[in-house]
Amino acid sequence: MDHSKLNRMEPSPGYGMRYAETYGTVITTGVDQTINWVLNWARSNSTWYMLFGLACCAIELMQTGGPRGDFERFGSAPRPSPRASDLFIIAGTLTYKMALRVKRLYDQMSEPRYVISMGSCANCGGLFQYSYSVCKGVDQIIPVDVYIPGCPPRPEALLEGLLRIQHQIKQEHYIQHRHGARIEPV
Ligand code: SF4
Repeated sequence: MDHSKLNRMEPSPGYGMRYAETYGTVITTGVDQTINWVLNWARSNSTWYMLFGLACCAIELMQTGGPRGDFERFGSAPRPSPRASDLFIIAGTLTYKMALRVKRLYDQMSEPRYVISMGSCANCGGLFQYSYSVCKGVDQIIPVDVYIPGCPPRPEALLEGLLRIQHQIKQEHYIQHRHGARIEPV
């Protein structure tokens, strides 16, 4: 075999189709894909949520964290501080009086952060949407990734919401978002 004609940077047939989005060489693509996969795998399986509840939906949140729902089997554990949390579950009726506090907690979470709106009250005001004191949906003050309907949603619904957040994390190109560029081979 004539090794001088061997182009080690040329992708083998089929690689272009598989990694079309990264446009790179085999080495570049492999590094990007592998690091992204490892980071996303670790992040999605350690989505810690803030220990926070507003009203009756929070009881279902606690139930989901208990032995029956067992949130922790998906790597999701409660944290008592927004600075150590990745996920903010808004569980309950959000009043205007509380809205500023919720916004402040959200601002204290570091990026990347995710929000689940749990229950009709958090989604749109629910039973209390005609009340003068109730915010008509938490998405009026912070961005929401997943909405869970119900009054209250069952623990299984909240688990489904968590799985959707994990799915969203697994689709992210974390390195590109974080550093704005692909890693180039040295
Ligand atoms: S959606 Fe229903 S269960 Fe949840 S906080 Fe509102 S009234 Fe309570």
